Amino acid sequence: MISVAIDGPAGAGKSTLARRLAANLGYIYVDTGAMYRSIGLYALRAGKDPRDNEAVNALLPEIELRLDSIEGEQHIYLKDEDVSTAIRTEEAGMAASAVGANPAVRAFLLDLQRNMAKTQNVLMDGRDIGTVVLPHATVKIFLTATPEARATRRWKEYQAKGINTPYEEVLADVKQRDYQDTHRAAAPLRQAEDAVLLDTSELNFEQSLDAMKEIIAQKVAG
Ligand code: C5P
Repeated sequence: MISVAIDGPAGAGKSTLARRLAANLGYIYVDTGAMYRSIGLYALRAGKDPRDNEAVNALLPEIELRLDSIEGEQHIYLKDEDVSTAIRTEEAGMAASAVGANPAVRAFLLDLQRNMAKTQNVLMDGRDIGTVVLPHATVKIFLTATPEARATRRWKEYQAKGINTPYEEVLADVKQRDYQDTHRAAAPLRQAEDAVLLDTSELNFEQSLDAMKEIIAQKVAG
């Protein structure tokens, strides 16, 4: 099986690029951030503080998380509810970052993620795919960009969706999430030694996509 691991900080363009690449390659796209967001959302809805590990751990046995692909699009479900849209808020992103620091949550999701890569070619994006989840991935890419470039992209996405979060707030969230993701004890965000670094600050979408295709073609063919 071929596996492509794509890691990097929030807003580097991972999910949009990964989704398109997976479609091009005919691989299954696995968005692991969506899994953390769903658990964060579940905790918020249950009235729990996502930073409270004990409270979140008590919820885990009742969480039924499921991924499905509908017409090539990944959908994520909490029990029978499709939460694919509900998890795309700043609040759910922050909650995801909080539950992502919880080792029990990471263990809960690890098997699910590894199993998906056992039986099919996958392109998986997250923070610890190349370092922890798929250490033997065929290709590892660490995708990054400056905090300002990432915040600008995210802000534009929000605007397009009619979400009016001020740019300064988006930038502050990007920086805070970077800090949380790189400083946590459990599976912190870092580049795997054998990952190829790609900085997309100065690249547009098509240029980033081409650069990634090139990296993958070299590894898969070689
Ligand atoms: O990629 P996305 O912004 O959807 O991820 C939301 C949060 O989930 C990240 O900030 C990170 O804290 C957490 N996450 C993680 N490990 C992953 C994917 C996401 O800790 N593999």
